[in-house]
Amino acid sequence: MRYSAVPSTVTVSPPQSVAPACPGQAEQVSERLIAGAAGYPYDHHLARLIAAWWQGQSVLPRAMGLGPDDFAHLIQRHFPGWEASGPVPEPPALDPLLADEQGDVADLIQRYRAGIDRSEFWLAQIVAAGCLGRDHLWQDLGLPARSALSQLLADAFPTLVAHNERDMKWKKFLYKQLCEETGIYTCRAPSCDACSDFAECFGPEE
Ligand code: SF4
Repeated sequence: MRYSAVPSTVTVSPPQSVAPACPGQAEQVSERLIAGAAGYPYDHHLARLIAAWWQGQSVLPRAMGLGPDDFAHLIQRHFPGWEASGPVPEPPALDPLLADEQGDVADLIQRYRAGIDRSEFWLAQIVAAGCLGRDHLWQDLGLPARSALSQLLADAFPTLVAHNERDMKWKKFLYKQLCEETGIYTCRAPSCDACSDFAECFGPEE
């Protein structure tokens, strides 16, 4: 789903240069965003994601994996007074061959949205873009802990979280859901309990 383009007066420059990770700075940016938030649902989740991305602490690409109009609309709607100051980091370029994968994961997540606010569509796209990184999903999104991702998903996509009864690692869980929905089974074992990769899917996500 796409939203209408925002007025051309909205100017949010893309990150320009790589900067080392600094969780404290991301927290400060997040606090500034929250201070100027419009009061919509998920402001605090979005603020964390934007701050981490802006500080170069996530794998999210330009516009956080959203289209440029959607990204500008997100900023204007949730954080209308935000004026980012530079220098800010250049986000990593994700493999273009994985772009389809982002769309598939986003579609999956969106199907479970709570229906509280339109920003659930944006959150699904952003989380899906984080799946294209190589670490745990919360780390690839630049969140401070796994619990922050779990809370985001529980708030915006509660029925999806309910399906993860055994607390599988989030990235593994999302791809397993995708495989089951499409009928493509890549697991080599008949059940998780009998699988030699069990720790890969269910071990600590820290
Ligand atoms: S534990 Fe094994 S069977 Fe279960 S999802 Fe992971 S790879 Fe597949």
